[in-house]
Amino acid sequence: MNREKNIQKIKEYPDEWDVIIIGGGATGLGAAVDSASRGFKTLLVEMSDFAKATSSRSTKLIHGGLRYLQQGNISLVIEALKERGLLCQNAPHLVHHMSFLVPSYKWWEGPFYGIGIKIYDMLAGKLGLEPSKSLTKKETLKAIPTLEEKGLRGGIVYYDGQFDDSRLAITLARTFEELGGTAINYMKVTGIHKVKGLCTGVKVKDLESGENHLLKGKVIINATGIFTDTIRKLDDDKCQNIIAPSQGIHLVLPKKFQPKNTAILVPQTEDGRVLFIVPWHDRLLLGTTDTEVKKPVLEPEARKSEVKFLLEHAAHYFAIPPKESDILSVFAGLRPLIKSREEEGSSSISRDHSILVSNSGLITIAGGKWTTYRKMGEDVINKAIVVGGLPERSCITRSLKLHGWMEDVDLKDPLSLYGSEARLIRGLESERKDLKEPIHADLPYKKSEVVWAVRKEMARTVEDVLARRTRSLLLDARASLSCAKLVAELIAKELGRPPSWIENQCSEYKELAQKYIYHGTEKI
Ligand code: FAD
Repeated sequence: MNREKNIQKIKEYPDEWDVIIIGGGATGLGAAVDSASRGFKTLLVEMSDFAKATSSRSTKLIHGGLRYLQQGNISLVIEALKERGLLCQNAPHLVHHMSFLVPSYKWWEGPFYGIGIKIYDMLAGKLGLEPSKSLTKKETLKAIPTLEEKGLRGGIVYYDGQFDDSRLAITLARTFEELGGTAINYMKVTGIHKVKGLCTGVKVKDLESGENHLLKGKVIINATGIFTDTIRKLDDDKCQNIIAPSQGIHLVLPKKFQPKNTAILVPQTEDGRVLFIVPWHDRLLLGTTDTEVKKPVLEPEARKSEVKFLLEHAAHYFAIPPKESDILSVFAGLRPLIKSREEEGSSSISRDHSILVSNSGLITIAGGKWTTYRKMGEDVINKAIVVGGLPERSCITRSLKLHGWMEDVDLKDPLSLYGSEARLIRGLESERKDLKEPIHADLPYKKSEVVWAVRKEMARTVEDVLARRTRSLLLDARASLSCAKLVAELIAKELGRPPSWIENQCSEYKELAQKYIYHGTEKI
């Protein structure tokens, strides 16, 4: 993906788009891949970097959602389980099976959750993963030796999907371009263009050059997650808000608290939340919370009360509980939930997606989850065909292999997430030996990945590389900060940036990383 070339394209052909998509998160990218794969001339514009907002801040699960089963939303669970199966087939380099253990400390938990999980297995049908099974206390402790033993009665093991969210987003962007689509980051929609009351284009501002452009298309799709209402108001300033953002945070902890490769699921905390403790890139993710927030922001911050909640609850399940000083990174994300009745708490708001068409023809798609991004893309492009009078063409993404797809992925290979492209990154390393060097002793990334991110994945800033092309910021915020200058220098060399750019990038990254380093209250 080359940003300069894509800017050139929109300058040469501003008026010829079939579909223009606003927003480069899971929803927008899913719609873009669907649209381009049906042969529509498609443009996607993202105001920040791809997956900058919610789509890089998830729990990293491709799952049906046991909680939605508890809530009785069977159709959502069936749909998500089907999507889980398809994604395991279409992106085996990015999504893999993971075992989850539900420990039981009360007599009724084993049979109660056991039945629920069997139903979960059954709902997956032909696309199911390995079957669940009940464990004795001894087997449970063998599976997770660091589990709190006091009061433990046994456990249930079941299987779900796990992935790397921003890597999947970048892979979708690359798949989209491979299909002939055009994606541009740092390109903000500032207005909706209308002719005789009908939406015919978007006004955009290039946030790198400051240039403005007017781009016209047959259909405009608003896929801006928590910013959905901001775009809707550009179309109709009197419309009512439909999004109720809800914050969820995660703590990243060293693997020593749970060295085995099995996740823990606590189906019900005091406030009715599900708690996950998930191995990820040789660390543990502990999450999540559900905190109502008033306004959408690109960089939400964890509250101390949320961190306290997670540590307190995790302490019930670890023989040696993690402390504030163990936190390697803390990150927050905002769920773009569709509003329901006022009195309901946000953990009970639907995770289904909705598609709305305004009087001017602006299509909005919102809600849903990462797991169902493909189905959301299919649904919204079906709608776009009707609204924009596009030729009827069937969806083909159910069996569309994503960029880098390969057989027999070796998950132990540190470059496995790149799939078939890993060998090209290794090729870079054999051309320039210095690129084999790690960017930091505590991070699993090499300089070659930085160069690759700039050359092939449209990374423009230190943050793009450290937060989303690699996951350094999440894996160890302090370590990521200490290699920011090195990364800035590598990017500057690739993009031809002056020394002042390196300085600015380092200070901007420092400010950002401070938000991910937990400055707790506890005496160390
Ligand atoms: P976003 O990712 O927010 O993308 C919208 C994009 O629009 C942003 O990048 C934004 O910059 C861009 N944009 C906004 N305004 C403009 C503009 N004017 N011009 C151009 N671009 C603009 N789902 C799962 O399936 N599994 C999970 O484990 C899971 N865990 C989660 C945990 C948490 C804590 C949270 C918050 C969510 C989780 N989800 C999970 C849900 C999932 O992450 C979201 O549903 C999904 O990422 C939403 O994607 P989106 O594209 O709709 O929104």
